[in-house]
Amino acid sequence: MNLPLSPDRLWDNLMALARIGATPGGGNNRPALSALDSQARHQLVAWGREAGLTLKVDRFGNMALRREGRDPTRPPVLVGSHLDTQPTGGKFDGPYGVLAGLEILRALHEAGTVTEAPIVLVNWTSEEGCRFSPSMIGAAAAMGVITPEQALNAPALDDAERLGDALTQQGWAGTDDLGLLGAAAYFEAHIEQGPILEAEGFDIGVVTGGFATERALVTVIGKDGHAGSTPMPMRQDALLAAAEMAVAAERILLARAPEGRFTVCRFLVTPGADGVVSGEARMAMDFRHPETAVLEALWAEADAAFAEIALRRRVQVAREAYWRFPRVAFNPALAERLRVAARRHGVSQRDILSGAGHDAYHAAARMPAVMLFIPCHGGVSHHPSESISREWAEQGLRVLADAVVETANAKV
Ligand SMILES: [Zn+2]
Repeated sequence: MNLPLSPDRLWDNLMALARIGATPGGGNNRPALSALDSQARHQLVAWGREAGLTLKVDRFGNMALRREGRDPTRPPVLVGSHLDTQPTGGKFDGPYGVLAGLEILRALHEAGTVTEAPIVLVNWTSEEGCRFSPSMIGAAAAMGVITPEQALNAPALDDAERLGDALTQQGWAGTDDLGLLGAAAYFEAHIEQGPILEAEGFDIGVVTGGFATERALVTVIGKDGHAGSTPMPMRQDALLAAAEMAVAAERILLARAPEGRFTVCRFLVTPGADGVVSGEARMAMDFRHPETAVLEALWAEADAAFAEIALRRRVQVAREAYWRFPRVAFNPALAERLRVAARRHGVSQRDILSGAGHDAYHAAARMPAVMLFIPCHGGVSHHPSESISREWAEQGLRVLADAVVETANAKV
């Protein structure tokens, strides 16, 4: 296909967006529904209007920028990602997928090419989960995976706000029905956020699915004590028990290496005062594995280890899972469309699984969905030094454009 795609314009837009919430060291700090995220959203709307796109916003702040098809009754083809970032985020995690989608729609607009089905560019609200927990709330709510109330009441981790309050405050509490649920397909391009593609010398990754994931809050209750006068055998030290549990869980995972992942994402200690034995510790723990059954076995082994440690250290332990995905499988036909497009452009490729969560996981629960990865240098992401080459950005754009437009023109 000969769309007048402009990889230079895509790059310029990425750099322009990265000036909103720029941090020292070349990174970005644009938390979901902050004033800076709002500014980035307005920039996207301005670019979209230039390309003739019409904007709708739903009650969760998800943005849909639509280009009409020849047959407006056909279900749309979706392409998108997110504009929010981690506090120590880079320029590309999220924006690459949104702006690559924008560039496709702009090229269609300039060429005067009308696809059969409409194409809708989506910016999902609050993907990162660093301000409002859990991650990917906007996509989950739009796809009916969580209730509207769960989404709007999602608490902020750093202040007293709820997601619903922040939407109203920043002016993104929309009233539109985006009509996404019945969409024909969802495409998301993203940086890999891992080292595999670059290390193996591939230009793109066709993402066939994602790791099964379960994140849980582990609460350990002991007893506060004096650091000087409480003899060691009498202590109920929640911090040390929790630390031992964290190390035990890592050991359980490593016994099944190299496939899985284990992270203690947060570790909070109460009272956390000098001179005091900690009476309470809370950890957000995250296991991931390509196989759902193995993920369940990992948690079962961890629970047994936690119980043994708790008994021995005379503390109580409780675990509450709050973020869970089975193994995600993306649509094989859409994946094949990406492979064919990559071959057509002479772009080298391999199939890959995603270890990270993405908005596409929720879309995949409701419609055929697929992701395309481009490499990032050293696998570095969620860090100011996150970087990609212009060549990678261009190759991903060309492959994505072919697959999106072909899907929008496919016979139904
Ligand atoms: Zn992302």
